[in-house]
Amino acid sequence: MNPDGNRNDGNGHRDSDAARDAIIAVDEIPSRIPQPTASQGADESAFVNDDLDLTGRTMYIPHMPYGGSVLFAAAFRSIGIDGRVVPHADALTLEIGGRYTSGEECYPQKIVTGDFMKLLEVDKVDHNKVAFLLPTANGPCRFGQYAGLQRHVLDEHGYPDIPIVSLSSVDGYKGIGRHAPELIRTAWRALILSDILMKLLLMTRPYEINAGDADSAYLDGIAACETILEIPGLPHDERLTRLVQVLPRIRDNFRAVHVRDEDRPLIGVVGEIFTRLNSFANQEVIRRLEAAGAECWLAGVAEWIWYTNEEQFRRLREERRRASKTWLRAFLTKQVMERDEKALYRSFAEDFRGYEEPHVPHLLKLSHPYLPAAGCGGEMVLSTGGSIFFYEIGADGIADISPFSCMNAIITEAVYPKVSRDHDRFPMRMFYFDGTQSDLDRDVGIFLELARTYKRRKKIPRRAVGRRAIPEDAPARG
Ligand code: SF4
Repeated sequence: MNPDGNRNDGNGHRDSDAARDAIIAVDEIPSRIPQPTASQGADESAFVNDDLDLTGRTMYIPHMPYGGSVLFAAAFRSIGIDGRVVPHADALTLEIGGRYTSGEECYPQKIVTGDFMKLLEVDKVDHNKVAFLLPTANGPCRFGQYAGLQRHVLDEHGYPDIPIVSLSSVDGYKGIGRHAPELIRTAWRALILSDILMKLLLMTRPYEINAGDADSAYLDGIAACETILEIPGLPHDERLTRLVQVLPRIRDNFRAVHVRDEDRPLIGVVGEIFTRLNSFANQEVIRRLEAAGAECWLAGVAEWIWYTNEEQFRRLREERRRASKTWLRAFLTKQVMERDEKALYRSFAEDFRGYEEPHVPHLLKLSHPYLPAAGCGGEMVLSTGGSIFFYEIGADGIADISPFSCMNAIITEAVYPKVSRDHDRFPMRMFYFDGTQSDLDRDVGIFLELARTYKRRKKIPRRAVGRRAIPEDAPARG
């Protein structure tokens, strides 16, 4: 699942297509271009209720990451749906999640089910006043089964009335209502802001002198953006203007964090999207890496949406539909997405020198010799391409954060040894999570020793150098 409520199935990417397609508001194109058919990538979910009425209900959203979901929930509030993030997960989450799952499901599902059922059983939330956001998708990865499983769990245990909310282009987003295009545009901005704030946090926190300063700046930034994102009925341009106005203050709060000059190995963090972004699922592995002496660069969420965008263009090329309305729609959508992204990143041009995100086509090109995008799909392609990108910018190692038995991670684990051999034995380490890790700090420590050894002998100097210093001659993205 994605912070925009959509998540890939490891191959089909259908829900994300729907979300991306909806980013263009109807007032931005001359006439409503027809939705793609199911065969073109739309979700055919049976879990989207055309008559969905969320009046009087609070819709809970899983953490992905926490701050990003706070912003995403605010986007829902902007169209009158009371979106909130689920409370922080804890041991009870796993205990309750385990009660409603068989052990064969992916770890993210156990956490999501545990979070939802804990709300009902422990927090005693009124089932008449609650809804859950849990998207679904077509395709071979197990993710396509989970909305159905959650529906089954709710039905079997006396909650058949609790709606499970998904986004779907098949029904013109009736599941969300007539404001769906407005929501998705705001949600895209929420997602970009989530990535920006996470980037600022991770490049600052390892170097902070006063523990907690960077986290405070991050939470203040989330709160400031949330306030703007949640305003109902604000025209898109006005909302963007207000967001752009608040960002320099957020940037300056991070700049004001006192930092020490320290030479840390840079670790690229890739892997399964829920587990790498949900800090409970990954047992705060990024903080552990930082505590052991690393700086981390976490692959964000926008990357996923850009990937689904590329996938749509690839499919349309394959189907020889370059002159179609669908192509035009995808093209216009991309323009709008890029415009918003550029506007929101503009205030950080100086701070992010050397930290520019890779373009997805570049990642697909890097991944191609190992996992060609035409034959493989999902996080496995992005993680592999992303790993080589991190090698190219002089990072010191890769941490792949994935759930145990994840279908994507099984593939990446198989190709990483060759990727590493082909790239100067770049350290690449799988960190699997299923809630039972015994000594994660020891594993992190061993991995960082490998990264430090590589750092001493590597041939490619580091492009990104952290908040502590930004060299004048830092090269631009290739
Ligand atoms: S954990 Fe892996 S296999 Fe499971 S739903 Fe996520 S991507 Fe698919």
